[in-house]
Amino acid sequence: MKNKILVTGGAGYIGTHTCIALHQAGYDIVIYDNLSNSSREAINRVSQLIDVSIDFIEGDIRDAKRLREVFEAHQFFGVIHFAGLKAVGESVAKPLMYYNNNVSGTINLLEVMAEYKVKKFVFSSSATVYGDPEVLPIDENSPRSCTNPYGQSKLTVEHILENLAVSDNDWNLITLRYFNPVGAHPSGQIGEDPNDIPNNLMPYISQVAVGKLAKLNIFGNDYPTVDGTGVRDFIHVTDLAAGHVAALNYLEDQTSAVGFLPINLGTGKGSSVLELVTAFTKVSGQKIPYQFTDRRAGDIASCYASADKAQSLLGWQAKLSIADMCEDTWRWQSMNPNGYKA
Ligand code: NAD
Ligand code: UDP
Repeated sequence: MKNKILVTGGAGYIGTHTCIALHQAGYDIVIYDNLSNSSREAINRVSQLIDVSIDFIEGDIRDAKRLREVFEAHQFFGVIHFAGLKAVGESVAKPLMYYNNNVSGTINLLEVMAEYKVKKFVFSSSATVYGDPEVLPIDENSPRSCTNPYGQSKLTVEHILENLAVSDNDWNLITLRYFNPVGAHPSGQIGEDPNDIPNNLMPYISQVAVGKLAKLNIFGNDYPTVDGTGVRDFIHVTDLAAGHVAALNYLEDQTSAVGFLPINLGTGKGSSVLELVTAFTKVSGQKIPYQFTDRRAGDIASCYASADKAQSLLGWQAKLSIADMCEDTWRWQSMNPNGYKA
């Protein structure tokens, strides 16, 4: 029988792409999501793409009763845990909501997993846990620190997972630290669908390109980088999805538990904001008007991964280029100017 995976937050941006990759790799999936930042339409589209009706449960990770029902009904090999809130600015305004969702929700999920002796866990962490890095590229042993509640919630969960691994050596707690996920499925059927005006660069660029937003504000052009704009490690969401499959395959191959295992998922290469704008303009053929504004509070100059650990342990490496990321984002945006809304 194929191994069954519970995917919390599986209706979201990274979750939908990962569900497709998991299905293609032969895993059986059950999605658990409260749809607070996603839609049934996203799940319908995943079903259409893989030609299988998805097992979807609408529920909150803070609802232990509902989770127990799910664990009673299914025998899981492990859990991939995407569910959480992710907007840095909102987390500053509503810290309790962020800690409740991201930290209390994760504790609740882990408690139910322990009850049912499901102890394989893949957690969505973020490069934000590295704060303002002293050394580039950033490897997994770099010091961690966070200034905003969102980042702090990720770091707190990492600490909880580390403590859990020490307390009970049956746990397998892979913590994937994503760099900057962008792009969309090559079909153009699924992609990132921000609720409001996007906070992140790529969806902002694509909404300018499609004419929904007038111009891009580039936050600062006086950073010590190649052209003065911020540098990030943009990674295609389908490469990221493949990283999750590689993490599960790795857990399947292990004969003893791995404890707490942090792994970066990035390309290892930094690109500047202006480089991304130029690439997007070229691929889409659209004008992307922009202006330079002040730096955004809390932003760092440069951030890119050392992806060596993912390569050596998981045999995983990002394959897609910045041009691929722009091309797939543009296909999704131009085919779905209003995202999943009709
Ligand atoms: P997303 O918002 O698209 O997906 C998250 C999903 O979780 C949504 O479908 C939402 O409805 C669901 N959810 C939220 N709270 C829930 C709860 N209490 N119970 C059940 N479901 C809940 O976000 P994404 O971009 O796909 O990110 C997935 C994960 O990766 C998040 O944990 C995020 O913090 C992390 N991450 C994302 C990025 C990024 O740039 N997208 C970078 C680093 C880490
Ligand atoms: N950025 C920008 N304009 C925007 C959004 C982002 O200039 O409208 C810049 C931001 O200052 C940073 C880079 O783009 O240098 C990536 O920002 P994003 O919010 O996408 O990711 P993060 O800052 O979390 O790495």
